[in-house]
Amino acid sequence: MNIAIYTLGCKVNQYETQAMERELLRRGHALADFDGPADAYIVNTCTVTAVSDKKCRNIIRRARKNAPDAVVAVCGCYAQTEPEAASALGADLVSGSAGRMNFLDRLEELLGGRKEQVITIDEAMARRDFERLPAGGGAGRTRAMLKVEDGCVNFCSYCIIPYARGPVRSLPLEEAADQARSLALEGYREVVLTGIEISSWGHDLRDGQTLIDLIEAVCRAASGLRVRLGSLEPRTVTADFCRRAAALPNLCPHFHLSLQSGCDATLARMNRKYDTARYYESVRLLRDYFPDPGITTDLITGFPGETEAEFAQTLEFVKSCAFTAMHVFPYSRRPGTPADTMPGQVPTAEKEARARRAIALGAELERSWLERQVGRVLPVLFEEEKDGLWQGHAPNYALVRAQGDGLHNRLPDVEITGVEGAALLGTVLRSGG
Ligand code: SF4
Repeated sequence: MNIAIYTLGCKVNQYETQAMERELLRRGHALADFDGPADAYIVNTCTVTAVSDKKCRNIIRRARKNAPDAVVAVCGCYAQTEPEAASALGADLVSGSAGRMNFLDRLEELLGGRKEQVITIDEAMARRDFERLPAGGGAGRTRAMLKVEDGCVNFCSYCIIPYARGPVRSLPLEEAADQARSLALEGYREVVLTGIEISSWGHDLRDGQTLIDLIEAVCRAASGLRVRLGSLEPRTVTADFCRRAAALPNLCPHFHLSLQSGCDATLARMNRKYDTARYYESVRLLRDYFPDPGITTDLITGFPGETEAEFAQTLEFVKSCAFTAMHVFPYSRRPGTPADTMPGQVPTAEKEARARRAIALGAELERSWLERQVGRVLPVLFEEEKDGLWQGHAPNYALVRAQGDGLHNRLPDVEITGVEGAALLGTVLRSGG
């Protein structure tokens, strides 16, 4: 059968889609383009903001309308938290953010002629086991995602994800190392350790191991692979973490540390577990141990009760951290979370205006970081050809564009010669392995 998948949301969802693609191919199906004809359409949904919910609804509606005779199957976080809404849009199969193999079994039953709608949603908070899925990407990809953790129990006051994903579950260290080894053998050049909250990796295993033990094991098991980390919580970054991480030659010096706000009062209302002093300590440690690392972050503007003065504090703090890139989101109300019922909800226009100001500051900081890279020689993993140039990422996650032949999945040294928009321009010095 021809099966098309549309993926919304984060790297974990992308990873889970890749795993479903692999499994579908293994079962003898073919992958189809979501905008073309197919026997089944899968929508892997996200619920991180109200905008994500709306996008999910639109895609499900579109799939149903364009292919009335095909099977429309919905899974992921939005389907987990709003199964009735997904079902009301005409989906034939509604499943959640776990049990992917069971989801594909049910999909095959529907493709085989089963007629009635199937809704299979588990209780996310009762999950205790890490769901093992095949790691890797599709053919021709250079970077594989390796999911090492699922779930979150931080309960930040704005976030719906703990309710959609359940408690922390970790992939045991030896299994993660084995998977990294296989990815290296398959020809991948980079692996990204992903999860909903990878800083909590190992809590459920109760053997005293923490994220840095896992990072060391993966880096050593696949020393020919570049290893990149998903989003970290500031508490993870200690002197011991940095000392051990800096000793790993294949660990990318790129750290995504979620900030969300640079104002202590706002951080407390968000139920984040750090203040700006602790956060700054993490940034300082990273810069002490790594030469000019990429330090990227997420920021929420217009959180309930955020005054103009509090937002100004955030902008000042952002400047002091000199982030190399920022993702900025206007606060989005998520029903069922504490922040949704907090007083002092900020009007949408103001949330968006603050987001624009934060984005402009982020672009300025990014530009000055990129300019500092000019003259350096960086090993670049080339991923795709676009507008006549090859492009890929340096270890610090700067996007680099250069001329060359057949650079796909190669890792040459590149001399950085200039900046163009949000990318660096460079000259390939040698073709790389
Ligand atoms: S750490 Fe906070 S923001 Fe991140 S998934 Fe957990 S609850 Fe959500």
